[in-house]
Amino acid sequence: MSRRRKISATLQQQVRQRALFLCEYCHASEQWQYVRFTVDHVVPLALGGDQSLDNLALACFHCNRRKADSLVALDPHSLEQTPLFSPRQHRWSDHFAWSADGLRILGLTATGRATVAALALNRERIIGIRAADQIAGRHPPPQDPIQPDAP
Ligand SMILES: [Zn+2]
Repeated sequence: MSRRRKISATLQQQVRQRALFLCEYCHASEQWQYVRFTVDHVVPLALGGDQSLDNLALACFHCNRRKADSLVALDPHSLEQTPLFSPRQHRWSDHFAWSADGLRILGLTATGRATVAALALNRERIIGIRAADQIAGRHPPPQDPIQPDAP
């Protein structure tokens, strides 16, 4: 955070539009929040990341804070250090899907599982918000995969 320079309004707008105004980690929609989402450095400045569009992602305050300066986290299945989801290198739908009830993000890969755990993508508070958003017909995002219930 200490070496952060101001990201221009134009660049911020490019980041928002590319993300479809969703947090690129938990897929919360910025549209329904009281405050705007933050612009995350995918590779933190402290670890040599830069301030170009290729290293920026839209992130809600919570995801940005949880991610902090990490690039890896523990996969809860293998207990091995695994790269976190990178919105610039990975496709969300390759690593995550919504549970059949639309309330929980399932990690489909080691990276997906590690990111769900490290960023607490299924924290209790957000599940309540997702449930309310679902009733309002604005969750989950229409382009996201939903995992059918296991038979
Ligand atoms: Zn988020």
